[in-house]
Amino acid sequence: MKYVSTRGGDLPKSFCEVVLEGLCRDGGLSMPESIPKVSKETLDAWRKLPRYSDLALEVMSLYATDIPRDDLKKLVEGAYNSDNFAVESIISERTISNQVKVLGLSEGPTYAFKDMAMQFLGELFPYVLEKQDKKLNIVGATSGDTGSSAIHAMKGKPRIEVVMLSPHNRMSAFQTAQMYSVQDDNIHNIAIEGVFDDCQDLVKALNNDIEFKEKHHLGAVNSINFARILAQVVYYFKGYFMTTESNDEKIDVVIPSGNFGNIFAGIIAREMGLPIHKLILATNENNVLDEFFKTGIYRPRASKDVHLTSSPSMDIAKASNFERFIYLIAGSEKTKALWEQIEEQGYFDLTGDPLWKERASWNIESGESSHQNRLETIEKVYRESGELIDPHTADGVFVGSQYLDGDLQLCLETAKPIKFYETIKQAVSDAPFDLTEVKAIEALPQKREVMANDVTLLRQFIESALN
Ligand SMILES: *Cc1c(COP(=O)(O)O)cnc(C)c1O
Repeated sequence: MKYVSTRGGDLPKSFCEVVLEGLCRDGGLSMPESIPKVSKETLDAWRKLPRYSDLALEVMSLYATDIPRDDLKKLVEGAYNSDNFAVESIISERTISNQVKVLGLSEGPTYAFKDMAMQFLGELFPYVLEKQDKKLNIVGATSGDTGSSAIHAMKGKPRIEVVMLSPHNRMSAFQTAQMYSVQDDNIHNIAIEGVFDDCQDLVKALNNDIEFKEKHHLGAVNSINFARILAQVVYYFKGYFMTTESNDEKIDVVIPSGNFGNIFAGIIAREMGLPIHKLILATNENNVLDEFFKTGIYRPRASKDVHLTSSPSMDIAKASNFERFIYLIAGSEKTKALWEQIEEQGYFDLTGDPLWKERASWNIESGESSHQNRLETIEKVYRESGELIDPHTADGVFVGSQYLDGDLQLCLETAKPIKFYETIKQAVSDAPFDLTEVKAIEALPQKREVMANDVTLLRQFIESALN
């Protein structure tokens, strides 16, 4: 399998080549040059596979064709096991009404679905670095979830150092503890005296300095990495097998969305032949994607216009992976032209385009929720089923409820309720949380360095701490 750029201007590459890269040279994102189709027989065989890692091996071997099967087997077994995940099945399911199930993707170490992909990258990166005899210094900025997930996946891994910037005193006590309690030598938490945007600007400043970047082997674990998407394709298959009796059933899937990574994995799974009927995209008040699917206009926001919401992991200004969807439906020439329009005028508008007439055939619905909608949904689900859901998942359940059509609806749970217990308490004041584990993590010793918002200091740190 070769990988090409969504904008058509880069040479085809192998899977291992794209794993360590960010954007393609032409500014586009890597995509497999074709999407493999899975036959009915294969689907039947996959349904019978006992372990999550067995299925991951089958799905991923169609894409990671330059990794020998035995090696890939070790990688997926290293990622998807009960040391890393709280349940043997890796993902879990709960029923919240006769038409709706919640698929638990947050059984990993940081209680959020990012672990599903990041745990795999934690195996894959050292493997690829070893093969290419390279090392990697991951420098990132986080407002909570992604950084934490990356730290827990990369801690103690050979050939990798992580420098993670987070806004000093601006994360919840639990998020802070989850990140800063990691003591491994290769993890460097830096609390920047500033806000998340300052952290992001610092990372950008370093990345714009090509010489510094190359000298210090700087890289990222950003959401545009195709390996992350690939890892997420697996749980669409597993989730389908867990919640249906046979491969003749159709289901709808609801996805709380930010950067369009999670839903894009679902689009690929469906393209491969998984019997998903509708994919339902749910956003919070940061509704760039809902706006596109409703109006045909894609207009990324300025970061100052991002709303801070009670589903913070979906607070985005633009949806990076959305470009991959446009590439799938329109090809690279069109994608390139549309992203040039964004550069020039800040948006593109498909309403006059023949593509928009095919809108119905995409089988993607969308909607958004407000803070109030999420609280009411959390309360309603708890009252009717006794199950607690987190604010991100509540966004999905709320939007999904507008599209119930008789098929089973699977709502992807992207974070565990306990991670956001403060918000949930606003909806269900007597929610039965066992905070023992949370308090234990909060009580662990923390390791971090506080730093002024100053790129010179950050450079000095990297020069002295990493070599
Ligand atoms: C990252 C994240 C999302 C959004 O996922 P995308 O792949 O960016 O669309 C939703 N919920 C939670 C809890 C997340 O951490």
